[in-house]
Amino acid sequence: MSQLDTLVRICAEMELELSEETIDKLDAFRSLLIEYNQHTNLTAIRDPLEIEIKLLADSLALLPLIQAEMLRNGREAGTVIDLGTGAGFPGLPLAIANPALHVTLVDATRKKVNFIEHVGQELRLTNIAPIHARSEDVAHKAEFREQFDIVTARAVASMPALVELCLPFLRIDGLALLTKGRSIGDEVADARKALDTLGGDLFDIWEPDVLELDNTSIVQLRKFKASPSQYPRSPGTPANNPIR
Ligand code: SAH
Repeated sequence: MSQLDTLVRICAEMELELSEETIDKLDAFRSLLIEYNQHTNLTAIRDPLEIEIKLLADSLALLPLIQAEMLRNGREAGTVIDLGTGAGFPGLPLAIANPALHVTLVDATRKKVNFIEHVGQELRLTNIAPIHARSEDVAHKAEFREQFDIVTARAVASMPALVELCLPFLRIDGLALLTKGRSIGDEVADARKALDTLGGDLFDIWEPDVLELDNTSIVQLRKFKASPSQYPRSPGTPANNPIR
């Protein structure tokens, strides 16, 4: 049996072709996750097939959108920051599948960042930068603020909080790709004021046409003006007291 058959099929349905090298590395990443998760709690998803679908395929579902964005920008390389990446989702599979992306991975939990560093060493990834910090703090540092082409976040916060956390990292005209469940119209509407405040606009909601990803939608936000310097507010405030 070849490796990651289900992932390869799902990707083909999204018109994504994975190289042999990418498949080998994603398979090695899955093994490292299973192994590390035995002694350090990283994710509740432990079954190999479930990892393939709910973590790897769900992450790679962003790739067609990222590739379209690179085409739009007229560049092959791009910078991505993944906020609240946990054990590396969606940022790490994206970095593995597309070496032209430089992916910064931010998480507030030390053990998860340690795992990402371990994967980076084992797989010799040169296009990732793991950071152990709260994204509210990172966003106020000049080398990260308004620097990125793309910001991603999956299962981190509600839409209004995410808008405040994500938009400060984007350069003007940059794109936020937020992985959510289906039926998120109300949650998106709830982010209206946060979007106006942070300088973003709803661009599209994309639902991958794949049976296994039938509870995934990707909210795409476009940044059209600079985010005021007081945002994001202090750590915890965007989630505890979202802009409404
Ligand atoms: N994106 C991953 C993990 C989701 S769990 C996945 O889809 O599997 C949410 C993660 O976000 C946790 O690891 C938590 O430590 C991190 N997190 C939550 N708020 C954060 C913040 N403000 N800054 C950095 N990390 C945060």
